[in-house]
Amino acid sequence: MPEFHISVLGSGSSGNSTFVSDGSVRLLLDAGLACREIERRLRTLGVSPGHIDGVLLSHEHSDHSKGAWRFCAKHNVRLIATEGTYRALKPLPDKPVDWVRARARSSVKLGRLTVDFFPTPHDAADPVGFRLRRGKLAFGHVTDIGHISDDVVNGLRGCSAILIEANHDVEMLRDSDYPASLRHRVGSRWGHLSNDALASYLERRLPDGVRHIFLAHLSQQNNHEHLALECCLAALDRRGGRAPKLHLTYAGRPTPLLRLSEPRMALDDHKQGVLEFA
Ligand SMILES: [Zn+2]
Ligand SMILES: [Zn+2]
Repeated sequence: MPEFHISVLGSGSSGNSTFVSDGSVRLLLDAGLACREIERRLRTLGVSPGHIDGVLLSHEHSDHSKGAWRFCAKHNVRLIATEGTYRALKPLPDKPVDWVRARARSSVKLGRLTVDFFPTPHDAADPVGFRLRRGKLAFGHVTDIGHISDDVVNGLRGCSAILIEANHDVEMLRDSDYPASLRHRVGSRWGHLSNDALASYLERRLPDGVRHIFLAHLSQQNNHEHLALECCLAALDRRGGRAPKLHLTYAGRPTPLLRLSEPRMALDDHKQGVLEFA
């Protein structure tokens, strides 16, 4: 049975990167930490950096891409990104890397893993979210979104686990000492997702099969872990049903490796079509 192993190596404005493996294909989703730091954090999970098969980029902002060139060049790893993201990456690499062109609303096959790309609402050249699928398992990754668009809702359909942004508390952002232009950018429909906007998604539009949610990209200035958690827990409570497990993510350390296996039908519940989750 396929199984995903997932660890968020780092998350937040200082750098984002997530490790995912289906047991044979090993990927980094974003590489926004220094190459050496990505290598160090992978090793703490027992993963050799040389065994990574691809680096997927959501967009070109440096907190998602700063280690990408170096990591790909050093370890001879494919960089998988949309053309807009690839062209906007700076600085250019000293050594060319193997680029796989991805397109929003299309898919790339890597071994037995399929990666679906969908557009995200963010002020970047050609930003995308990812859905990684194998068998009945799917993991969705969407961060840096100014709002929950229909593409985001569709992109996360069928997922058993998702990583999604919980960037800021609306009041903390409003009262922050950020310059007005930055406050406006972060809070706009092309900026970052607030706890309240995430909560509204969780309450009304979260797919039923989601068992794990990683809360990502929390602002150190304009959010607190307890605010994000309380907001999301209250939303899941209003939603009712079996609540998924919430996982915090960290700027300075990886999350423990999560093993995600396929949902299986419980024999006694088969007639009712009730799923039992391992
Ligand atoms: Zn960004
Ligand atoms: Zn970012």
